[in-house]
Amino acid sequence: MTPLRAERVHVRFGEHEVLKGVDLAVREGEWLSLLGRNGSGKTTLLRVLAGLLTPSSGRVLLDGGPLDRVPRRAVARRIALLPQSTPYVRGLTVRQFVRQGRYAARGPLGMLGEVDDPRVREALRDTGVEQWADTPLERLSGGQRQRVRLALALAQDAPVLLLDEPTTYLDIRHQYEVLNLVRDLQRERGLTVVSVLHDLAQAARYSDRVVALLDGVVHVDGAPSEVVDAVLLREVYDVAGSVLWITTNGVLKMVVVPD
Ligand code: ADP
Repeated sequence: MTPLRAERVHVRFGEHEVLKGVDLAVREGEWLSLLGRNGSGKTTLLRVLAGLLTPSSGRVLLDGGPLDRVPRRAVARRIALLPQSTPYVRGLTVRQFVRQGRYAARGPLGMLGEVDDPRVREALRDTGVEQWADTPLERLSGGQRQRVRLALALAQDAPVLLLDEPTTYLDIRHQYEVLNLVRDLQRERGLTVVSVLHDLAQAARYSDRVVALLDGVVHVDGAPSEVVDAVLLREVYDVAGSVLWITTNGVLKMVVVPD
């Protein structure tokens, strides 16, 4: 099964063609990470896959059918996106904010009132933000707010989760907590995850597959242990160095050592 597929996707902003024919089939249940330099089009591709940006040409298929023909609420039942930033209304509590994730499932009325929604409760619990449920969002730190934003995406209860730099603002402990949580959800609920992760070592450790963008197309596509190497470092990031793979506690990990 291929929940999401990009076919010959081009995206142009004015004169600047960012994506120049991206072909990508996301497999059900995998965690795929998009790699590439700043400005290589990772966020743009994620927004195209979420149906928020229409390609200049080419198309995206959701469960085999054209994504642009699927009504917005139906898309939101299938795909949850954690964008780099989310606007919020001052005074909104954490619970009210996370409840917005239920819009697609319950409609506008389902987000109002004090309906006790198990998905909201689970999302608050899983991301460890329950203790702030009645706190206005603006009183939280950047890291706490980031976990609340993840809770909003999880509350949507969609089988496909798109994450744009989910570890931003988080200290190292919370970075791993969030990544472990996503991995557990991927395994337990069979979620399909597509992420943009800044840290190459984290991408290599958590992803089943990495796809590197270069010059607007897919340059490398494969399992991290097979494709993340010195050649990828040089070609994709313009960095001279070595990539070392080590196993500790039975987990394969990767370290970049620049020359
Ligand atoms: P990445 O996520 O890999 O850092 P982006 O997808 O954010 O890259 O951006 C790719 C390029 O597209 C950048 O040069 C960026 O300035 C440009 N870009 C992205 N969104 C827009 C937009 N809405 N309007 C104009 N240019 C954009």
